[in-house]
Amino acid sequence: MTALFRLQRDADLTTRNTFGVAARAPWLLEVNDTGSLAEALELDQLHGLPLLMLGGGSNLLFAGDAPGAVVALRAAGIDLVEDHGERVRVRATAGAGWHELVMWSLAQGLCGLENLALIPGSVGAAPIQNIGA
Ligand SMILES: Cc1cc2nc3c(=O)[nH]c(=O)nc-3n(C[C@H](O)[C@H](O)[C@H](O)COP(=O)(O)OP(=O)(O)OC[C@H]3O[C@@H](n4cnc5c(N)ncnc54)[C@H](O)[C@@H]3O)c2cc1C
Repeated sequence: MTALFRLQRDADLTTRNTFGVAARAPWLLEVNDTGSLAEALELDQLHGLPLLMLGGGSNLLFAGDAPGAVVALRAAGIDLVEDHGERVRVRATAGAGWHELVMWSLAQGLCGLENLALIPGSVGAAPIQNIGA
């Protein structure tokens, strides 16, 4: 069974950014279940530390080690939650891949995201990065 979250000390971030820059984080929190995020952030080891959210690492250039804790949201779920005929509401968790979301929407016969295909990164980073294609 996959743990809801995992806290790792002195973590290597080299494979977690697409430039492959060698950097480390004093703590790396990997959250596999979005519902446990609040509980995970209550851990004593993280108290008072600056947090850096990490997605696919495709738009981050580490200029040194991370000063605090790096938080990676791993849960990757995509669901159709409302269908109003011409409009639908889709819920995708932060850890889902952006391109996977686009491909999923097309497989469902939904249009609107197709011009945003092949953009690297995660759903969680999308509103921060303001993906526009
Ligand atoms: C080859 C290439 C082509 C691209 N083409 C396009 C394009 O055509 N159009 C376009 O709009 N963009 C484009 N981009 C940029 C793209 O939008 C970003 O690279 C992508 O959104 C970053 O996602 P990520 O998960 O890798 O984020 P990361 O690189 O991991 O993080 C980027 C930022 O988002 C924050 N962040 C990450 N996840 C979360 C989260 N869950 N919650 C809060 N903050 C978070 C991080 O702290 C950081 O500040 C391109 C990038 C590349 C490398």
